[in-house]
Amino acid sequence: MADLDIPPARQLIDGSWTPAADGGELPVLDPATREPIQSVARGRATDVDLAVAAARRAFPAWAATSPSERGAILRRWADLIAAQVDTLADYEARDVGKPRSGGRLNMYIAQGIIDYFAGAADKLTGVTLPTRTPDFLGFTRPEPYGVCAVVIPWNVPAVLTAANVAPALAAGNTVVLKPSEVAPLSPFALAQLAHQAGLPPGVLNVVTGLGPEAGEALTGHPDIDHISFVGSTGTGRAVMRAAAQHLVPVKLELGGKSPNVVFADADLDVAIPAIIASITENAGQNCYAGSRLLVEEPIRAEVVERVAAGMAAVRLGPWDQDLDMGPLVSQAQYDRVRGFLAEAPAAGARLVTGGEAAAGQHGAGWYVTPTVFDQVDSGMRLAREEVFGPVLAVQGFRGPQEAVALMNDTDFGLLACVWTNDVSRALRVAGQARVGQVAVNQFHDVGVIGFPFNMQKDSGFSRGGGYAALREYTQEKAVAVRLLDRPAG
Ligand code: NAD
Repeated sequence: MADLDIPPARQLIDGSWTPAADGGELPVLDPATREPIQSVARGRATDVDLAVAAARRAFPAWAATSPSERGAILRRWADLIAAQVDTLADYEARDVGKPRSGGRLNMYIAQGIIDYFAGAADKLTGVTLPTRTPDFLGFTRPEPYGVCAVVIPWNVPAVLTAANVAPALAAGNTVVLKPSEVAPLSPFALAQLAHQAGLPPGVLNVVTGLGPEAGEALTGHPDIDHISFVGSTGTGRAVMRAAAQHLVPVKLELGGKSPNVVFADADLDVAIPAIIASITENAGQNCYAGSRLLVEEPIRAEVVERVAAGMAAVRLGPWDQDLDMGPLVSQAQYDRVRGFLAEAPAAGARLVTGGEAAAGQHGAGWYVTPTVFDQVDSGMRLAREEVFGPVLAVQGFRGPQEAVALMNDTDFGLLACVWTNDVSRALRVAGQARVGQVAVNQFHDVGVIGFPFNMQKDSGFSRGGGYAALREYTQEKAVAVRLLDRPAG
């Protein structure tokens, strides 16, 4: 669709498609063919300076815009996404390598998030405080920070654009977004629609570039007021160090190693398909992917067999064939996942299905087959590190105590899923889980509106998702007033 065409070798600064100051470009590759789709600007420090300056200029007017009007613009943005969902889905699917229907799902999630914050924009309030006598008034007011830096990874770029940009804008901030150099196209397309919805120039700027260039320049910039970072734990540490230089508040949403914990009384007809989807959706490249399967021993053999059969039946193919799973996103990701596949058997894990690269069978893309390893030991790298691919590590347990110990034996603390028909046990395990989010008898937050995307431990810390995200993007000011007596007349 012509109005969504993203011009090559450009970035979006102050409402205009702009080349990099030094003319630099980066290719964006199609993971299914390894061929270039198009180029984007290779932004560096000078481009970041321009984007931050544009956001700074735009801030006073945007912060002074009625929150209802900000909400109305966000709602128009959400409506435009719904109207162009197929075009947007194709951008994301081709860029990341996910099936077209996965791209559509992501666009509807992004649209829903923006719509949520459209409604929330004019419902953000402070509190009035008790006073010692009626001669005083005390209250708090939530205020925007100013210019927010948002840095996101490549796996679900549209959802992460919406989840970070929409609450920041709703609260009256302006934004400089740096998408991943690996998959920048759907953030560009969404930003273009935001402008069509009436967002003033400079309120949302998108700078593309490499992490050590544009990313470091943005997170270390002296004129930003808040940083939201979504990505790997290692980069998160670097971002937090950068934030320390200027004492900028930072929100970190990092990696995961999420377990599906399956007790012997679980409804396996519900659990098995959800477990398979949790590690094959987006080729396992999700922060909350269900990459660990902890099963109570009496049903372990049956669960492993059924999960492996389901994984073996997953159909691989390029985005436009719209099958079940696409290739991995990049050569780096392909090499990383194959490293785990080669190492795990040597470390003592039992390969049940998959275990190899699938390149050649489905074209030239970076495909790996969905893989299950059983008899994984907690000390193995496969049990401890984020693979970020369709690779499942299975461990057995005997009873709730051992289940909880295994569940928590990880540096990460993102999501735990508990499968049982015993509601008391489910709630006890949920209470003992050292994670930011728990799902019971489902994978993740299906059916809940505004579920907070909370993190613990090496998965980071955030108040992202739901109404709390508006608090993340505001700073509270406390005001104390003394009411003076005025002479009559
Ligand atoms: P990454 O950390 O390599 O990169 C993320 C972003 O940071 C990219 O835009 C990159 O260009 C930028 N970057 C890299 N180095 C930087 C630096 N020194 N300073 C500033 N920015 C820098 O992660 P990735 O490989 O793109 O994405 C995969 C990771 O993202 C996984 O660990 C996954 O778990 C995580 N993730 C987390 C969530 C969540 O909400 N917790 C969601 C999606 C993905």
